[in-house]
Amino acid sequence: MRAIIVWFRQDLRLADHGALSAAVGAAGRVVPVYVHAPADEDPSAPGGASRWWLHQSLAALGRALTAAGSTLVLRRGPSGAELARLAAETGADAVYFNRSYEPGLVARDAAVCAELAAVGIGTETFGGNVLLEPGTLLNRAGEPFRAFTPFWRAAQAQLEALAPAAAPAQLPPLSAGTPPGLPLEALELLPRIRWDAGLAARFAPGEAAALGRLEDFLEGSAAGYPEGRDRPDEPGTSRLSPHLHFGEISPRQVLTAIRSLDLGPGTAARRRGTAAFLREIGWREFAHHVLWHFPRTPEAPLDARFARHEWRSDPAALAAWQRGKTGFPLVDAGMRELWHSGWMHNRVRMVVASFLTKNLGISWREGARWFNDTLVDADLASNTLGWQWAAGCGADAAPYYRIFNPVLQAERFDPERAYLRTWLPELARLPDEWLHRPWLAPAEVLGAAGVRLGTTYPAPIVDLMASRQRALETYARGRTEGPAARAPR
Ligand SMILES: Cc1cc2nc3c(=O)[nH]c(=O)nc-3n(C[C@H](O)[C@H](O)[C@H](O)COP(=O)(O)OP(=O)(O)OC[C@H]3O[C@@H](n4cnc5c(N)ncnc54)[C@H](O)[C@@H]3O)c2cc1C
Repeated sequence: MRAIIVWFRQDLRLADHGALSAAVGAAGRVVPVYVHAPADEDPSAPGGASRWWLHQSLAALGRALTAAGSTLVLRRGPSGAELARLAAETGADAVYFNRSYEPGLVARDAAVCAELAAVGIGTETFGGNVLLEPGTLLNRAGEPFRAFTPFWRAAQAQLEALAPAAAPAQLPPLSAGTPPGLPLEALELLPRIRWDAGLAARFAPGEAAALGRLEDFLEGSAAGYPEGRDRPDEPGTSRLSPHLHFGEISPRQVLTAIRSLDLGPGTAARRRGTAAFLREIGWREFAHHVLWHFPRTPEAPLDARFARHEWRSDPAALAAWQRGKTGFPLVDAGMRELWHSGWMHNRVRMVVASFLTKNLGISWREGARWFNDTLVDADLASNTLGWQWAAGCGADAAPYYRIFNPVLQAERFDPERAYLRTWLPELARLPDEWLHRPWLAPAEVLGAAGVRLGTTYPAPIVDLMASRQRALETYARGRTEGPAARAPR
């Protein structure tokens, strides 16, 4: 009986899984495998928070495969050698997998396919964790889109035909002779010193949890999403990003769930909300397409005019930013939310990124590295796009002179200071008027709230106005004039 290996990667689900469905249709024996090979994945190798997620997600996938009658085989890389070994052990003649689009993974996959072909094992690949295949959407000049709105307009014209495949109801069992895989613990994904309680309290990885989260969001916050999505103090967004990154749910499933929503009472608000939400899924799509077209952007700005920008080296300021000790409450709250829970609200991501690159003058690459290490949703495409957007040097980026003011942002988007109080308990007793700018508070107000600046909470590490001015001058100097972006390919 023919056997096919299904190689799970950033697609830790059973539903809408092209490789799995095809293998079930083509062979009597299916061998599901996950090969842990961080060295093969550089620079996409996951940081500590992502590894925690991966551990939980693999556990959930294992349970789901067992419930469907099969078993997840866990192995350690290198990927090509291990897949060839597994094929020899099981008599499989092909490896099926869903495509990845990050440059390191594209190169890894090409090498694996060549390695397998050399020993007579075939490979077949399927659409991955995006709505449309990167490379297929081009502007009228036949070039990749660099601006989101025309990209999304062109993409939407093609979404109509998309429909996700259901999960196979039953899978064939592994044959008795298949050598056992590693126990999940052997992959050593969990931290040795258990700092992960905050992550576990906030998130439940896995396909079933992802579907539940989508359903809850569409039934609940979706109607208020256009306004609620900017409020870090409220659960106004879906928090689907890590589930999407690990492929526990596909964007096609999200699209279909929106389409099939029974809009019921409050239809107009739900329609507006889900349209705005889908547009954000569109930004994710845009990020993946941009990275595919411009694979060097994790290291180099897309807009080549910024190639010679002078970034500052300031290890003390970088450490203060990383630990949430800058003296600017909204920045510090965001960085502590990230450290504690592996996630940060999008509005606050924009504020902390602007602060690092503009007020501190430190390279967006340092920020992207820290996010990659600490986010549960760390994703090379979205992270690169987000950081280059904030630094002003990417696709559809914020203009370089747009510098977020963390005081005004807190006033506007955390009106009751609930977000700040959650993450900065040492400032919690300050009145709303001063909580987001304690350095301006009268001494008696600070005293009454038990705040001693420089002792219980840091004094600001930069002057907002002076650093803003310095950023504008540095940007103006660094930008060599010329057409935006003959970007690195
Ligand atoms: C500096 C910076 C770095 C970022 N790094 C990452 C990252 O590593 N991984 C990541 O998934 N997102 C990243 N983002 C984008 C965004 O902040 C998160 O996707 C979002 O906060 C996730 O929360 P949510 O799932 O509740 O989003 P929702 O508002 O519910 O949006 C739904 C989905 O759309 C996608 N999405 C939303 N906004 C964006 C965006 N701006 N760019 C790309 N996709 C988006 C996400 O997949 C998200 O889950 C970054 C943004 C910035 C400014």
